Amino acid sequence: MPELDLHTARVRFTLYASMIPAQAKEFGLECFREEAKRAQVAAAVNALNSQQKAEVALLLDDHGYQALGLAVHNAGVGILLSLHTLGLAEDYTFFRTSPSGAPAAPALESDYTKMGEWWEELGKKDDVPLRWGGRFHTVDMPHFSWAWGGRL
Ligand SMILES: [Zn+2]
Repeated sequence: MPELDLHTARVRFTLYASMIPAQAKEFGLECFREEAKRAQVAAAVNALNSQQKAEVALLLDDHGYQALGLAVHNAGVGILLSLHTLGLAEDYTFFRTSPSGAPAAPALESDYTKMGEWWEELGKKDDVPLRWGGRFHTVDMPHFSWAWGGRL
């Protein structure tokens, strides 16, 4: 399939991503959606290394922006050109559903792999560029995306 325009890709990705919680349930899992669309400013902060984050946090703190400094200090790790900034990626945390009704336990790596392989197979079956972060050079198991513009 030729690459879709961004609007159409976002619409299709949103439809596919909406299947994730139901598929998780099929596998005896439940999930949270942790992050979907990410602001460009958050992606830029995430892309800083820890030394740069510490420097920016200190600078903000020195100028009276303590809350912002703390947010930079505690920012996640990511890349500047993340598909999250285009609305083409979502991150999920999975849990194993307890049949007894006990609190759910964190899912195992094998559960993430099962979800990731399902996602990849869905992409192949429908000839759409669904990608799973478990295959990335820096493994990112919670990450489900629609490859676009040379980004994964
Ligand atoms: Zn992600």
